[in-house]
Amino acid sequence: MMKVGNVSNYSISTKVVHGSKCYDPHTGAVSFPIYQSATFRHPALYQTTGYDYSRLQNPTREELENTIANIENGKFGFAFSSGMAAVSTILSLFSPKDHIIVSDDLYGGTYRLFEEIYKKYGLEFSYVNTSRIQDIEEAVKENTKAFFIETPTNPMMKVADLKTISRFAKDRKILLIVDNTFLTPYFQRPLELGADIVVHSGTKYLGGHNDTLAGLVVVNDEELAERIKLIQKSEGAVLSPFDSWLILRGIKTLGVRLEKQQENAMKIAKWLCTHKNVTKVNYVGLPDHEGYEISKSQASGFGAMISFNVKDVQTVEKVLSKVQLVMFAESLGGVESLITYPAVQTHAAIPEEMRNRIGVTDTLLRLSVGIEDADDIIADLEQALE
Ligand SMILES: *Cc1c(COP(=O)(O)O)cnc(C)c1O
Repeated sequence: MMKVGNVSNYSISTKVVHGSKCYDPHTGAVSFPIYQSATFRHPALYQTTGYDYSRLQNPTREELENTIANIENGKFGFAFSSGMAAVSTILSLFSPKDHIIVSDDLYGGTYRLFEEIYKKYGLEFSYVNTSRIQDIEEAVKENTKAFFIETPTNPMMKVADLKTISRFAKDRKILLIVDNTFLTPYFQRPLELGADIVVHSGTKYLGGHNDTLAGLVVVNDEELAERIKLIQKSEGAVLSPFDSWLILRGIKTLGVRLEKQQENAMKIAKWLCTHKNVTKVNYVGLPDHEGYEISKSQASGFGAMISFNVKDVQTVEKVLSKVQLVMFAESLGGVESLITYPAVQTHAAIPEEMRNRIGVTDTLLRLSVGIEDADDIIADLEQALE
């Protein structure tokens, strides 16, 4: 008799490899099948196999949804066609006049979604430095319904104290939403620290190969899950069976990829600190980073994202045109090292005044460290920075 596996007691390195069911219980296939079907045949009136129509549920998407729930240590997972579709679904939980406090240093697309789409439906947003609890407290109003936090933030790598913030939020019945894209459940599990909703751009580390867009959401509360399910099936921004399979395959190697990427990032961050044309390095794993201690208390790793300032704009131009191995491209988290210029790419939607206030200036570069040989990456950056 084949038994459906239950991997919930295993450590995270094992869980990522085996997913939710571990294999296809019908055939024993070790690679979970891609159920490329829009609809499902009913056995008889009022009977269902559990699947009716793929916008509502699809077996491959369900395996991914159960897998992400499993590795985030949550109960209910949801997969969307992109990270932004996932964030948008969460925003649909709120009503006109609801107020949301948001990390001021965050993914530019999230800022654009809030300011250019949801504001006109009457939602109110305040952007604060969420690495300072007193700044969050001061921004709370009577109609504050949620905190939307990135930690570490994109691109300044500021760290928010999730346990303290969640205690504060619970006392006031405020929902804590955490974008866990940068550290992934391999290093940080916000639900265990008191968050209510975890959201991901699965496009980044979970997929890991710069080949698929995806978004994921995980919650513990059943009522919240019902509301998200309703929005997901009504709005329909669901992840396709094939893309669900690609993310499932990506997650299998999440552990080994992140270990290697983090090891590389540490080496590269230390090297950048010594370079004469580099004026500041933001990497959470450096002991003099402001968020180092908090990060150690709530996450098992520092990740592989680095941002750094170079001495002037001319150096930015030189670096971006001279890098060869490290590709000048948007996105992050994949096996290939990528370098971006936040002020004109990922964060262009954020007003210049706000960008300069938080540090996203015209001399800031962001590096997503891949799994290549660290010395090759350093050699490439060295020739580009000279
Ligand atoms: C990329 C990213 C998003 C958006 O995800 P997409 O998959 O590109 O839609 C949201 N949050 C963070 C932190 C990201 O890096």
